[in-house]
Amino acid sequence: MLDQADRNLLVDIRNVSRSFKKGSGNDVMVLDDVDLSIREGEIVGLLGRSGSGKSTLLRIIAGLIAPSSGEAKCRGSVIQGPPLGISMVFQSFALFPWLTVLQNVELGLEAQDVDRSERRKRALAAIDLIGLDGFENAYPKELSGGMRQRVGFARALVVHPDLLLMDEPFSALDVLTAETLRTDMIDLWIEGRLPIKSVLIVTHNIEEAVLMCDRILIFSSNPGRVAQELRVDLPHPRNRLDPVFRQLVDNI
Ligand code: ADP
Ligand code: MG
Repeated sequence: MLDQADRNLLVDIRNVSRSFKKGSGNDVMVLDDVDLSIREGEIVGLLGRSGSGKSTLLRIIAGLIAPSSGEAKCRGSVIQGPPLGISMVFQSFALFPWLTVLQNVELGLEAQDVDRSERRKRALAAIDLIGLDGFENAYPKELSGGMRQRVGFARALVVHPDLLLMDEPFSALDVLTAETLRTDMIDLWIEGRLPIKSVLIVTHNIEEAVLMCDRILIFSSNPGRVAQELRVDLPHPRNRLDPVFRQLVDNI
């Protein structure tokens, strides 16, 4: 019987290491003995230098690659392939160019047992939520970068994930577009309109981290591991809309 604490444990990463073969033929260790747990309801930020293994860690949690050693679990089961209830927004959008916006978003529901009309209904709701109403039948190449990433968000949100993994979701966008999308997402989050329970976000943006996260992990590099953990003592997300608080963050 799991106790209460265990039932809230969504992701449990224990002693996870991962190496890759480099051009030289040698194995290079990218993640070394990483521990990380994410409980339901937590918003966790991950900050660290480029190349420190942040994306590798997210890909392990998303079930896209396996650890070289150690254990990665989701709700108590070893992660083997993408776990139900976890979805990911990629830095480079990762859309299928030959599919429309609606079809790309519907793909998010592929692993779920929902019939065609329900699938369409849910995809349209996600598209609407994310501000792409009217673009359902457009192809990715007809959209701006910001709109493409909105499709990436809609595809990840359509399953109402327990955990949303976001890998520098705004970093491939120009500064103004990134700011608009970031603000829209943070507002949706603060207003409680994002259908998610928990978040792990990789970011270089301190405003993003402070506005969204309960906990910020600082990653060291060569090899990557969690070097420090900051707990952010902030007002409840809804109160972060307070103009005085927003101004404080704007001035960081
Ligand atoms: P970050 O997201 O922190 O920038 P990554 O996890 O993308 O870091 O990469 C960490 C290191 O692992 C980099 O040196 C990168 O080249 C290497 N790496 C990542 N994925 C692979 C792969 N599939 N094959 C070989 N090396 C990889
Ligand atoms: Mg990365």
